[in-house]
Amino acid sequence: MKDLQRSLQKAADAIAGADSLAISCHVSPDGDALGSALGLALAARHAGRTAVVSFGSPFRVPGSLAFLDTSPLVPPDEFPAAPDCMVVFDAGSADRLGELAANAAASRVVIVVDHHKSTSGDFGDILVVDPSAAASAQLTVALLDTLGWEIDESVARCLLTGIVTDTGRFQYSVTTGEVMRIASRLLDAGVHPEEIGQAVFESVPFGYLKVASTMLQRATLETDLGLVWSWVEQGDLDAAGVAWADVDGLIDDLRIAREAGVAALLKDTTQGWKVSLRSRGAVDVGSIAEARAGGGHHNAAGFTMPGERAAVVDAIRAGLRG
Ligand code: AMP
Ligand code: MN
Ligand code: MN
Repeated sequence: MKDLQRSLQKAADAIAGADSLAISCHVSPDGDALGSALGLALAARHAGRTAVVSFGSPFRVPGSLAFLDTSPLVPPDEFPAAPDCMVVFDAGSADRLGELAANAAASRVVIVVDHHKSTSGDFGDILVVDPSAAASAQLTVALLDTLGWEIDESVARCLLTGIVTDTGRFQYSVTTGEVMRIASRLLDAGVHPEEIGQAVFESVPFGYLKVASTMLQRATLETDLGLVWSWVEQGDLDAAGVAWADVDGLIDDLRIAREAGVAALLKDTTQGWKVSLRSRGAVDVGSIAEARAGGGHHNAAGFTMPGERAAVVDAIRAGLRG
């Protein structure tokens, strides 16, 4: 705890002393990654500072997060090439930044704010990392408090979105009393919880239903391993008129099969099979993903692997057999 306080103070000093802030997060950002990044940027602007936010390609804000104030966003090619101070959220290794890894390498100082257990430690000058935190947004609240910057309604909306996303609407084991106290503070700042709930969990493009239907048709249950898995291809998205950023929620439709302790969704992207893993708790899918050069948490993790679909499923089976 003392170490975290020390690194929060170091990060706050570096941010307070910087000319401008270049803020980023992991590729294909979720509510925690983008919410934390926008939250810091908006608070910085309100404090009279210059701040921009970007993330690596594909540069597309998921429709579910478009309700946030995205005014600090710039495309990755307009992000400072050699920032004075770069702050990275929710990413434990430089490769999670896509092309912005080069900007981080050229930055005078890099601050990493993260809660992944697989944070590599080989990137970042100041690490504000706490794997017991429910969300990077939780650490962002602590950082803003250390800076003495105000958390107004627009900032609080971003940060509560991060906490709501990463706690699965306050149902995962990371949901402590402290998390609820922070959430209550953010609500008191004037956030409307129903706006977050509607945007993030209750609103998909119609084509999502078609992709979900195809994905669920293909679902396979392997009872010996307690594994349910399925896949989605580019052609499925084309047929339904949606993009990868629209279908982040698919894994949640798959993982609810009671017979399975682990769910795996394979997405056939241009970078190879992007695998999402979820566990009910007994199995540490973070370790399985780490063994394949990916990462994540005990209950939610991912990795990317080229090759045939069958080989990817074999790799998951091998990970489960230990
Ligand atoms: P996702 O399945 O994409 O929602 O990701 C679940 C969790 O695993 C998130 O915390 C991600 O940040 C993490 N994760 C997913 N893919 C990777 C990867 N290739 N490398 C490291 N962490 C990942
Ligand atoms: Mn994330
Ligand atoms: Mn997170």
